[in-house]
Amino acid sequence: MLVVQKYGGTSVGTLERIEEVAKRVIETKKAGNDVVVVVSAMSGVTNKLIEYAEYFTKEAPCSKDMDMLLSAGERVTSALLAIALNEKGYPAISMSGRAAGIVTDDSHTKARIINIDSTNMRNELDSGKIVVVAGFQGVSEDGFVTTLGRGGSDLSAVAVAGALSADVCEIYTDVDGVYTTDPRIEPKAKKLDRISYDEMLELASMGAKVLQNRSVELAKKLNVNLVTRSSFNNNEGTLITGEANMENNMEQALISGIALDKNQARVTLRGVVDRPGVAASIFKKLAEKNINVDMIIQNTSHEDGTTSLGFTVPQNEMEAARSVVEGTAKSVEIDSDVVKVSVVGVGMKSHSGVASLAFSTLANEGINIQMISTSEIKISMIVAAKYGELAVRALHKAYELDI
Ligand code: ASP
Ligand code: MG
Repeated sequence: MLVVQKYGGTSVGTLERIEEVAKRVIETKKAGNDVVVVVSAMSGVTNKLIEYAEYFTKEAPCSKDMDMLLSAGERVTSALLAIALNEKGYPAISMSGRAAGIVTDDSHTKARIINIDSTNMRNELDSGKIVVVAGFQGVSEDGFVTTLGRGGSDLSAVAVAGALSADVCEIYTDVDGVYTTDPRIEPKAKKLDRISYDEMLELASMGAKVLQNRSVELAKKLNVNLVTRSSFNNNEGTLITGEANMENNMEQALISGIALDKNQARVTLRGVVDRPGVAASIFKKLAEKNINVDMIIQNTSHEDGTTSLGFTVPQNEMEAARSVVEGTAKSVEIDSDVVKVSVVGVGMKSHSGVASLAFSTLANEGINIQMISTSEIKISMIVAAKYGELAVRALHKAYELDI
């Protein structure tokens, strides 16, 4: 098998930790696999490098220089890990993003990967070496170092796994995997054995940030099997894969998890003129300002020919949204004291009654639902913030996720 392993900042946070990682890599190699390792900077290093730059300027420094600076953190880890592996008798070679053939566009500090020329990696693997790639970075077509945005080593790992058609891409962090909900809210939350890409994308918004969303999207596109697991124990982790791989899983649960998103604000417009094109013009203006509208509801018209319109936006975009909608309605009300609770599961596609259970569960707790939206794999409800955690626990129990 060809295995790509990615180790995050806490997994390589000290020299001792890098030594532990070397042992795990060696185990994987000894089991007969080809191994490519992608590493993050040691924890805290990227932030430290940003602070260094801020010593000289509070303005945004030249983004090409920032990329030279920030890419250094990952290079340090990759070199140290390769040195440790060689010392233990396992031939290894470290590679910068450039050496690994990771070509990006030139949007410095937030570059997108265009292509990976895997020649160097393949040659070194063929000669029996363990390849250690510095994550988070690439090179632009005109030869400058680029970085992929914060948390970007996950993306490097997935892209490398895709380019090499790896059998699996293991993402090591300090948590055991993906849970049915945030264990800090519901201690009975259970680790999931497997989950689909789409479910993972929905659950990630709950803040259980085991994986950068962009990397899950890329894994889905490239069909890379992802496993998130801890580098601090030998627990199995969670497989994130395509739905096709989940169909023959007889025990596929109806619901995979309950997500809580606290970063929501509800915008209500009252007295909006009810004629064709009005909603179009409001949402076009929001889109032009790059404001992410999530849920939308429009009421049936009132007798005076007006209607009300409600939608949600991320909290940090709420003032921008206010300036866009001001003047489009008789009154504008923005409430940031709300949360979005979502019930997520591919299993709900083929079952009825899933939504009604959610609504009756919240009703039994006396929780008022302010907005609802559904997709094939998700039911989301906006409720008052103070009821968010109660709603999560009640739904977790109602869908028997604690059993
Ligand atoms: N070191 C980078 C960061 O802290 C990339 C990563 O760790 O994924 O954002
Ligand atoms: Mg990370």
